[in-house]
Order: sequence, then C-alpha cells, then structure tokens
Amino acid sequence: MQQEIAEELARLYADLDAEIAQRAWRCRACGACCHFAAHGHELFCTALEAEFLAGDEAPDAFNHDVCPFLDDARCTRRDRRTLACRVYHCEASPTDAMSALSEAYLGRLKVLHERFGVRWRYAVLSEHFSRRNILHCKD
Ligand code: SF4
Ligand code: SF4
Repeated sequence: MQQEIAEELARLYADLDAEIAQRAWRCRACGACCHFAAHGHELFCTALEAEFLAGDEAPDAFNHDVCPFLDDARCTRRDRRTLACRVYHCEASPTDAMSALSEAYLGRLKVLHERFGVRWRYAVLSEHFSRRNILHCKD
C-alpha cells in the first residue's frame, strides 16, 4: 500500500477514535466479537481497509468463524483494525449512534477510494482476501 494512502487511513481512524472516545461506550477488549460465528455477526470492510489491515501478511485462507488477526483475546492489528472493529461496542445502546458514525466514516472512506482510484468494495473480510489479487484494481 502506498505510504500516502496508509497515512490518510490512519488519519481517518484517529478522527474516528477521537469521536468514539467522547461517547460513554465501554469495551472490555475481551475479543468475543472477533469470534464472528459465535457472536452472530460478520466483519464487513472496504477494499482499502482490508489491505491496510492485512499489511504484508494477508492470510491465504482462514477459518471464517474467527478473525485471522485474533491471537487468544488480543487483536494483533490494533492500530490497523477496521472502521467496524472500532465502532462496534456490544454494550452501546441505542445502536443508532453506532450506525450514524459508521455511515459518516464510510462516506469518508468512499472519498479515499475515489481519490486513489481504488474500486469501491464493501464486503465480508474473507471475500476481500479471496479477491486479494484485485484489491488494487482500477476501473
Ligand atoms: S465490543 Fe464487547 S464483545 Fe467486543 S471486545 Fe468489546 S466487550 Fe468484548
Ligand atoms: S481486526 Fe482485530 S478487532 Fe477486528 S475483528 Fe480482527 S481481531 Fe477483532
């Protein structure tokens, strides 16, 4: 990934983290929501996010039930984790505020995709990795 894109993504995530910090949402960092199947959800992200998350170590294949970047209860990509990883708080209520924050930052991500000529893809994490060869696709 180009340095400039990585820097823009890091800036976007820093802004998002600052907004989340202003809310009374708490996370015990237990890692339960990273067990997608057991938690009853899936991790969706954009193509740029998937590439940033993976860095140089995208998994070729992985158990779709659990995030491949989870080590015991620890996220091994803490600084690179996706918008959804950051926004999701299992104890936050109501959930409208989470949805609104997601929408706002997905809008910013879309602008980044356009600016850097990366095809917009918002898909399940595993799908991005199965399409890894076309993450850079420009059309
Ligand atoms: S959001 Fe909830 S399930 Fe996920 S790590 Fe935090 S406390 Fe655990
Ligand atoms: S990237 Fe980290 S926070 Fe996000 S699902 Fe994977 S282990 Fe959990």
